Amino acid sequence: MGGQLIDGKALAEELREAFKPRTAALAAKGHRPGLAVILAGEDPASQVYVRNKVNACEAAGIFSLEARYSADVPQETLLAKIAALNADPAIHGILVQLPLPRHMDEKTVLEAISPEKDVDGFHAASLGALVQGHPCFIPCTPHGVMKMLEAHGIDPSGKEAVIIGRSSIVGKPMAALLLNANATVTVCHSKTLDLPAHARRADILVAALGKPRFVTASMVKPGAVVIDVGINRLPPEEGGKLCGDVDFESVREVASLITPVPGGVGPMTITMLLANTIEAAERRAGK
Ligand code: NAD
Repeated sequence: MGGQLIDGKALAEELREAFKPRTAALAAKGHRPGLAVILAGEDPASQVYVRNKVNACEAAGIFSLEARYSADVPQETLLAKIAALNADPAIHGILVQLPLPRHMDEKTVLEAISPEKDVDGFHAASLGALVQGHPCFIPCTPHGVMKMLEAHGIDPSGKEAVIIGRSSIVGKPMAALLLNANATVTVCHSKTLDLPAHARRADILVAALGKPRFVTASMVKPGAVVIDVGINRLPPEEGGKLCGDVDFESVREVASLITPVPGGVGPMTITMLLANTIEAAERRAGK
């Protein structure tokens, strides 16, 4: 038995189908959506993520442009490229693949992106608007999680939501979204005391800490909805496969709904990037 799966792959495909008429309508009016992806360095995981994003754009009818640089590229070069892309009418979204090389200041680079083109939602202006409940580009991973809850008829209102992890790209925007949806939100992190006691209160438990199989069945309230954001590569002696932050097999026995890894949150993240890029193009076309 066990909890029902939230199939992120299937939901992502369904949403991507629905994008096609929107991109076609924009293209017919001369506003084909365009996404620029900037990659500095040779990090193999980043290269895979960038390739996946570019392929997903092509399949959805979004024009994509890759700007690749070596790891020693001066920050000024990246800032000049971002300025040019900010001014380019064919580009509606700009994404800088993280992590950046060590000599760069992430905040300076991300904040060089015009908020109108900040389809990753990492600009301070985007996060500020999100916290205040104003329209903005929502960071793709937590946005995808909200879509998954919606697709399964889970209304966070009045529910206890516990998030493990407080990064600016997942944990904090996830907390803001659940709070905006009227959940009672707890954010746990590396300094939280008695984390299992907090986790056991959760009706909705989101694991986003980057520790393989951290969440075990004894930390989960029976019937909880468990969302596993984590993507971890197991060492070769453990099979070298991808695994999440949740001990899927044991937690599935306790949860009512659970996301697998892979095939859960991951496909939804790229889907929401496409959604934000199309929305940026629609906003521009409407001007
Ligand atoms: P991060 O390293 O920036 O942040 C991790 C957070 O977890 C920190 O706030 C830290 O305080 C907390 N944490 C670390 N160890 C902890 C512990 N033992 N107990 C409690 N809290 C702890 O990571 P991130 O960028 O937010 O990513 C988190 C995970 O999600 C990673 O596995 C990452 O690969 C994955 N991720 C997946 C997607 C996706 O599309 N599915 C997108 C982004 C990130």
